[in-house]
Amino acid sequence: MHNSFKPIDRVLMGPGPANVHPQVLEALSKPTLGHLDPQFIELMDEIKLLLKYIFKTESEHTFVLSGPGSLGMEACLVNLVEPGSKVIVCVAGYFANRMTQIVSKLGGRVVVVKDDWGRAVDPQKLASALKDNPDTKVVAFVHAETSTGALSNINLLSEIAHKSGALVIADVVTSLGAVDVYVDDWQLDAVYSCSQKGLACVAGMSPVSFSERAVHFVKNRKTQVQSWFNDLNLLEGYWNGPGKRAYHHTAPSNHYYGLHEALMILKDEGIENAWKRHRENSAKLISKLKSQLGLEPIVPDGERIPHLLTIKVPEGIDEAKVRSELLAKHNLEIGAGLGELAGKVWRIGLMGYNSNEKLVDFCVNSLKDVLKK
Ligand code: PLP
Repeated sequence: MHNSFKPIDRVLMGPGPANVHPQVLEALSKPTLGHLDPQFIELMDEIKLLLKYIFKTESEHTFVLSGPGSLGMEACLVNLVEPGSKVIVCVAGYFANRMTQIVSKLGGRVVVVKDDWGRAVDPQKLASALKDNPDTKVVAFVHAETSTGALSNINLLSEIAHKSGALVIADVVTSLGAVDVYVDDWQLDAVYSCSQKGLACVAGMSPVSFSERAVHFVKNRKTQVQSWFNDLNLLEGYWNGPGKRAYHHTAPSNHYYGLHEALMILKDEGIENAWKRHRENSAKLISKLKSQLGLEPIVPDGERIPHLLTIKVPEGIDEAKVRSELLAKHNLEIGAGLGELAGKVWRIGLMGYNSNEKLVDFCVNSLKDVLKK
């Protein structure tokens, strides 16, 4: 007899994945359905409705891609960027930088609006870049920059972009389900997220939503979409085919059960209540980290992602050693700094199911124990 894999029951308080809600884990193990089974199609329709609720959108072009957040990033860019078209990307961290790489691969002309890592995107800089580049077709930015802990005012960024006629792409990977996102009110033309953070689900699914403007653009592109898997025209046939669905790919049906359960849990709580819970628990965490351990966030007040804190590593502390001791002794995972912030910060997340008071205290007490040595 072989030994089945037995993962350690860790507490995941890094930048994601976060712990999966137990009800979601249960849902994943239900009997598998075929991806064109009538009951599975009903499930897809329900997922669409629930996603519209979570994204705060009425757009019918709202569905899930079978892949991680990075697939959603590629899908939004590949559909809206044509070779040679000018794209402004607001870069203040690792993930926005990844967007610039994708735009380059697609043959787009990238204009970078740069801000410091650890700060929100400066709307004035975007306004002046658009003045200098009136032929910009797309403006892309990250709402919650997971690499730095900074939250940008994407409502304002979107308003500025639309004034010059550009389409807007927003990364809501770390914000969806945890902090206010209003896709319609903020006129976001293409958004993508993930399943493993605020939604408390397993990784591997990317909720996306496209506006009518975006769909109109894709239907009237001068050039073909440079991807088969992510071509919105084909995806629409799978998710929105009139009365029937065209085979596109074999959807991971058990994963979709998990996502459905995760979205139902959020709907039962009420999305606004979930946002409030994230804000309140994170405020408690930051106040205890400051008062009991003297730890400070690097992002200024008013620009911080509530549920993902980037904490400055104190002078003389070996940050990697602290993380490995937390893991070994307390089964607690927190994140390291990424890119420019590697070695300088810890990233502590209170996302989805993990945003609760018990874990606030668990994290503070575990850190206290390890740091006192
Ligand atoms: N964008 C942001 C802001 C992220 O934080 C991440 C991952 O953490 C991604 C994109 C990529 O998502 P994934 O790792 O699910 O592909």
